[in-house]
Amino acid sequence: MKHAMAEFDAIVIGGGLVGAAVAYGLARRGQKPLVLDEGDIAHRASRGNFGLVWVQSKGFGVPEYQRWTRRSSEDWAEFSRELLEATGIASGHERPGGVTICLTEDELEKRRQKMAQLHLEAGETNFEYEILGHDELKKLLPAIGPDVVGATYTRYDGHANPLYTLRALHAGLVKLGGRYVPNARVEAIRAAPNHFTINAGGATFAAPRLVLGAGLGNKELGEMVGLDVPVRPVRGQIIVTERMQPFLPLPTLMIRQTVEGTIMIGESREEAGFDDTTSVEIVHTLAERAVKTFPVLRHAKIVRTWGALRVMSADGLPVYEQSKDFPGAFVCTCHSGVTLAAAHALHYAKYVIDGALPPELARFSTRRFHVRAAA
Ligand SMILES: Cc1cc2nc3c(=O)[nH]c(=O)nc-3n(C[C@H](O)[C@H](O)[C@H](O)COP(=O)(O)OP(=O)(O)OC[C@H]3O[C@@H](n4cnc5c(N)ncnc54)[C@H](O)[C@@H]3O)c2cc1C
Repeated sequence: MKHAMAEFDAIVIGGGLVGAAVAYGLARRGQKPLVLDEGDIAHRASRGNFGLVWVQSKGFGVPEYQRWTRRSSEDWAEFSRELLEATGIASGHERPGGVTICLTEDELEKRRQKMAQLHLEAGETNFEYEILGHDELKKLLPAIGPDVVGATYTRYDGHANPLYTLRALHAGLVKLGGRYVPNARVEAIRAAPNHFTINAGGATFAAPRLVLGAGLGNKELGEMVGLDVPVRPVRGQIIVTERMQPFLPLPTLMIRQTVEGTIMIGESREEAGFDDTTSVEIVHTLAERAVKTFPVLRHAKIVRTWGALRVMSADGLPVYEQSKDFPGAFVCTCHSGVTLAAAHALHYAKYVIDGALPPELARFSTRRFHVRAAA
C-alpha cells in the first residue's frame, strides 16, 4: 500500500530533551517540525536524569564548551519563562548558584585547580567563582556535617525539573504548529541533499531538513546520512528520598532538593553497556557520601532508586555537525541535555533553519574524531 506523503519544514528524530528542544526552537521561529520518537521501550536519558543546569564542571581545556554552556545557563530563565507562557507548564527552573562539596583537602585542592583553569581559559567571558571553607559554606548551607572540608561556588549554576521541561517542550512544539509522532522508530532514511523521506509509524514524511536528536540512537542513524556520531552509554544511578523540610536552598553537584521537597542524590558514572539497572554498591556509596555531607539525611527514607544511560561522545563534548554528503541533515547530541536545552531551542534550531553551523560550534564537529583516528 502506498502512503500519502506529509510535508514538513524539518524532521527531528528523537523526542527526548535534545530533539524536543530543537523542534520547539524550530516551531517558535515559525517552522513546521515533525518529531518522530521511538517510545517508552527506548533508552531515554531525558526521563532519568538529575536536573542540574550546571556550569562549574564544564569545559576544562575546551573554552568553547564553557562558553556554550554559560550561554545556555544565561538563557535558561528566558527559555523557561517563554515555555510557561506558551504552555502553562513551569519547568521549575531556578538559578540560585551552586556548589560542589568536598569531603577531603585533596578533593578541595583538585577543585581549586580546576576552577583556576576555567577562570584562566574563560578569557573575555570571565568566570567568577569562590572557594568556600567549612565555616563560609556553613553560613550558606547550615545543614552540612563536620566532615565537609569546603566547596567551590559559582553563581552560574542552577537546576530545573527535567520531566516538566520535557512536557513543556512537547506541548510547546505542538501548540506552535509542530507535530509529535510517538511509537515511530526510524529504521531507514531516504536521503538527498536538502530532501529527506522517512517511513515511520505507518506513514511517509518528507522535509528539506533533518535533525538527528535521538540520543544513543544517533550512532546508527548517523550512518544513514554520512554522519559519524560515536556515542556510547555511560550509566548513572540516582536515589530519591521522601519529602523533607527545606534545608538545601541551592543545588550541589551530587545532592539537590526539589521544589516538592524530595532529595535527589546522584552523580555516579559507570561503563555498563546498555544495562540501566541499579547496584547495591553504587547506591550505598552515594548514600554514605550524602549522609556525611548532610547528616540530616541519615533518617530520610529512600523512596526510589534508578539507573539511566548518559549519551556520551568519545571525548565527552557535544556533537554538532551538518552532513557533507547530505546537506540539510544535522546531528545534535550531548551529555548535558538539561543544561543545554536553552541553547538548543534558542540557537541550534536557528542554525538548522539557516542551513549552516556557526564558527563557534566548529570545535564540536565530527572532524575531531577523524583527526584523532588518522593520527
Ligand atoms: C543519571 C543521569 C543524570 C544526568 N544528569 C544531568 C544533569 O543534571 N544535567 C544535565 O544537563 N544533563 C544530565 N544528564 C544528561 C541528560 O539527561 C541527557 O543529556 C539528555 O537527556 C539527552 O537527551 P537526548 O534527547 O539526547 O536523549 P534521550 O533522552 O535518550 O532521548 C532520545 C530519544 O530518541 C528516541 N530514539 C532513539 N532512536 C530512535 C529511532 N531510531 N527512531 C525514533 N526515535 C528514536 C528515543 O525513543 C528517545 O525518546 C544526566 C543523564 C543521566 C543518565
